[in-house]
Amino acid sequence: MATLSGIKTDEYNNLFAKNVDEIEAERENEALSENKLEYKEYKVELNINQNHDTHLEIHARASETKAKEAHIQAHYKAKLLQRDNMAVQQMKLQQDAMAN
Ligand SMILES: [Zn+2]
Repeated sequence: MATLSGIKTDEYNNLFAKNVDEIEAERENEALSENKLEYKEYKVELNINQNHDTHLEIHARASETKAKEAHIQAHYKAKLLQRDNMAVQQMKLQQDAMAN
């Protein structure tokens, strides 16, 4: 097992991914608390590959605004899409396995 300062590689990757999403979500919070989707040079943009659980956890700390509400809804929708995509991929893998 490859290690980096005693941390397993996949643990390190998880740690890194989480930090990136945390930083991003915190920056989004600044905008969302102002009821804005653009703040300074930063744009609040939703990406399917974000860690939506981390975003939802951090966005809970932002002030209650319409922008926050809409953004949280978008994260939930993205989570549903991710889950459905995964189900489709799993089905394909099972079909491929049966074809061989
Ligand atoms: Zn977000």
